[in-house]
Amino acid sequence: MPHVLISGGVSNVSFSFRGNNAIREAIHAAFLFHAIQAGMDMGIVNAGNLAIYEDIPKDLLVLIEDVLLNRRADATDRLLEAANSVKGQARIRVEDLSWREKPVAERLAHALVNGINQYIVEDTEIARVELGHPLKVIEGPLMDGMNIVGDLFGAGKMFLPQVVKSARVMKQSVAYLEPYLEQDKSRAKSKGKIILATVKGDVHDIGKNIVGVVLRCNSYDIIDLGVMTPCEKILATARQENADIIGLSGLITPSLEEMTYVAQEMQRQSFNIPLLIGGATTSRAHTALKIEPHYTGATVHVVDASRAVGVASQLLSDSARDKYVEGVRAEYVNLRDLHKNKKSATKLISLDEARDNKMPIEWTDHRICQPSFLGVKTFTDYSIETLIDYIDWTPFFSTWELAGRFPRILEDELVGESARQLFQDAKAMLKKLVAGKWLSAHAVIGFFPANSVGDDIEVYADENRDKVIAHFRMLRQQTEKAKDKFNLCLADFIAPKSSGINDYLGGFAVTAGAGMEAQLARFEKEHDDYNSILFKALADRLAESFAEHMHTRVRKEFWPYAAEERLTHEDLIAEKYQGIRPAPGYPACPDHTEKPALFELLNASQAANIHLTENFAMLPASSVSGFYFSHPQSRYFGLGKIAEDQVIDYAARKQMDANIVKRWLATNLKE
Ligand code: SAH
Repeated sequence: MPHVLISGGVSNVSFSFRGNNAIREAIHAAFLFHAIQAGMDMGIVNAGNLAIYEDIPKDLLVLIEDVLLNRRADATDRLLEAANSVKGQARIRVEDLSWREKPVAERLAHALVNGINQYIVEDTEIARVELGHPLKVIEGPLMDGMNIVGDLFGAGKMFLPQVVKSARVMKQSVAYLEPYLEQDKSRAKSKGKIILATVKGDVHDIGKNIVGVVLRCNSYDIIDLGVMTPCEKILATARQENADIIGLSGLITPSLEEMTYVAQEMQRQSFNIPLLIGGATTSRAHTALKIEPHYTGATVHVVDASRAVGVASQLLSDSARDKYVEGVRAEYVNLRDLHKNKKSATKLISLDEARDNKMPIEWTDHRICQPSFLGVKTFTDYSIETLIDYIDWTPFFSTWELAGRFPRILEDELVGESARQLFQDAKAMLKKLVAGKWLSAHAVIGFFPANSVGDDIEVYADENRDKVIAHFRMLRQQTEKAKDKFNLCLADFIAPKSSGINDYLGGFAVTAGAGMEAQLARFEKEHDDYNSILFKALADRLAESFAEHMHTRVRKEFWPYAAEERLTHEDLIAEKYQGIRPAPGYPACPDHTEKPALFELLNASQAANIHLTENFAMLPASSVSGFYFSHPQSRYFGLGKIAEDQVIDYAARKQMDANIVKRWLATNLKE
């Protein structure tokens, strides 16, 4: 319980209340103001926590002045009451400008460490004139500041959002110096040249961009090839630029195969520079098992941005490299051995046995709800404001490498302060992106007569159910189950054709990433990676919240099988709703190649302006698509490993070559 002691020249009051920063800061400010007015020699306050007098809300100011100026007998009680009523409200803006009095080199370091970009151009100019050369500014105060940031980050005392803000200060300062540097052709020293790329067919780049920022501010020269980068372009650029390291990123599972291909090509083309692997679906195990064996150069999985600098510096250090690479190799050999021994542990049953153990559903006991319309319905320029309330914030913080569940994360001892600041920035940007129409949201949903036939779902043109317009081929779990557990398959959640019961399947495709380019270009022009990454992370959140919101409307309104549902925000995040909305490429239906049929059925490319890459990633990246199942017993699950018999059966059903099927389902195959 912070104890606030106010001792002014005009009154002497001492009281305490639980952590109400806004009030405490306001009191400090008011106290200082009155102390100065009263001609006191000194007023001791914590300047770092000082609110600006003008910013104190007027009604609060009256209460504070009542105390300070001893204007009423009950002044203290009234202020305490106010303190209780504003508990938890946003802090009053705090600004301590004493650092502005320091010499320019210290000001630059301060700006970097604290991520303050407000004065960076004027300070950079002063430093350039004072130090006599732009390079001296970069290699002096800027590097000093970044080294502090690097050390704090490495020691876990500073977190990613703050680092990216610091990097923004650095980038803006360097951008200002750039024309002067070009004039005399000198360049800042680089620790090495690193090519970064999101691989072919994949569109996700938040993680890659974060890694780029972190490496760049540690003096690595980064050549970022962007998203959907073909192998040939990555390798040609590496050759041309004489790169020291190649870093690959990817989010969807097909990218894993693409990374293996790049490794094979690097081997074939006699590269020997290190290869870094990163991104959401990648893992140390996958890198060890599937990528590293193809390439004799160093191949290293980088788990997150905080590790990137450590890995790069070891790989490029003449003294540390060999030992480090040897260590990684030994670790990966070990992982492969472990895997070999583990293989026998997972037991798969035959596809026939798995089908015999399907989830029993009594279709005759269940009344199927009819959708309110059949065919598709399009929503253009959906209200973003509506979507904000549906945001699941926890993944937003993990994007920024802040671990913990929302809202508890805001009070976390370690990352709480960083999380609060980030959350505040996020909320401010949400306001701006709504007001400035920085992005648009579109959706298409559809409902279709459907029945299951074996593990397939047949979709019909109309209620006559005689014309099949789409087939969705589903996969079935094949791991041996304990008694009373079933080998699940999504097709089981739709009434079998043989039952004669008329059932339905729904589909959806939503995006919250339309038209982001203009604003992203503005951030790029301002060298503002922080806001660029923040914007993309928010668009991803809005896409997921759109999926959540639309699903809610579907259950209550468009396919009202749960019209009376009353679920809280937390209930939605915990997936307590009836029915599911599985997405192709996710655990229950990991095959991305089912997406084109869904998109065609929904006319998603035209209706919602969402497009598929050659590996079936969605563009814009901030999009979600999937199926709606209504049955109360339907639930999310993970397919797990499947056996050769299912691959052959599935390939025949899809009329696809079994080897191609294996490529798409690589992560689900038992070795
Ligand atoms: N509330 C989370 C949801 C993430 S899951 C968030 O905001 O990030 C992302 C999407 O994957 C969901 O909208 C759903 O469509 C789908 N999904 C979730 N679990 C799944 C599973 N086991 N199999 C298939 N799709 C799944």
